[in-house]
Amino acid sequence: MQNFTLQEFDDIPTGLLSADAGDLVSLLGGPSLINIAGAPGRPPLFVSSMLHGDEITGLLAMQQLLSYFSGRELPRPIYWFIGNVAAAASGQRRLAEQTDYNRIWAADCDVPEAAIARAVLQRLEEVPPFAAVDIHNNSGRNPAFACVNRLTPEFVGLAGLFSDTIIHFTRPKGVCSLACAEIAPSVTLECGQPCEPEPLRRTVEYLKQLLVLDELPTAKQLNSRPKVLETVATIRVKPGVSFDFAGEGGSELSFRADLESLNFTESAAGTKWADSSSLEPAVQVEGIDGRDVTAHYFEQRGRQLVQNRDEIPAMLSSSPQAVRQDCLGYFMEALSL
Ligand SMILES: [Zn+2]
Repeated sequence: MQNFTLQEFDDIPTGLLSADAGDLVSLLGGPSLINIAGAPGRPPLFVSSMLHGDEITGLLAMQQLLSYFSGRELPRPIYWFIGNVAAAASGQRRLAEQTDYNRIWAADCDVPEAAIARAVLQRLEEVPPFAAVDIHNNSGRNPAFACVNRLTPEFVGLAGLFSDTIIHFTRPKGVCSLACAEIAPSVTLECGQPCEPEPLRRTVEYLKQLLVLDELPTAKQLNSRPKVLETVATIRVKPGVSFDFAGEGGSELSFRADLESLNFTESAAGTKWADSSSLEPAVQVEGIDGRDVTAHYFEQRGRQLVQNRDEIPAMLSSSPQAVRQDCLGYFMEALSL
């Protein structure tokens, strides 16, 4: 049974700082906003975590951060949102009957889960935060990086404090950071795979920094110049096509086993992605305007699916569940600021 009412807490619920992701649903009763007091007169920090039930770095980072400040006043208040606790109970991104919790934040979204997002956004509008940070993990092997939906100096500064690699994207609409961007500088952190210690450590340090800063740095004030990449296309496996990542040709589409090693590399035209028994590319590439641009990026050469042009692939995942529920990955282009 799903709960579409936002649970609100005015203090840290007992047991939360040591809870496992799987226990959150019984501890909290549903998606929750936890309002934690801090130094008065300073705008709060909004932290969103667990929009995807199997992405636990946000939970772990907040547990460590709040344990660090245990018994002391926070340098600024925190609004901590904990999202898909029902999916977390079974270690999944989302449950089959659910809408993805990072697709429910657009004002015109009318799925039941959108009531939760609207309730959170209403709180943020009442007391606009200093910054909004939505913490995720990748299912595939990727470096930790930050994403923004706007390229203004303070958005780039907020992202650049976390990572030298910044991704700019404006689709899909319905993601949390896009809705928050209307209210405050907003960033999405992609913190590697869920149990990687280094991205977790970096996330905790980043949140500590955001708690004490009076102003966000602008892009120019950062220590190093970030590299900004733009998402230009989304890669999916065509519906109904069987696929694997064994590279042995067992399925209609058998991706190379080291596909994830292409992430954030400058991958050359002619690079093989998969063995494929179909006559045309069994993947579908969608441009940011929603058009089918498959032929622009891929061609079928004999029994091989190959890349047509030099490109930067990113966030490629070899998790079949992530590929089916979300996508295979993206193509990026470098931007100069
Ligand atoms: Zn996620």
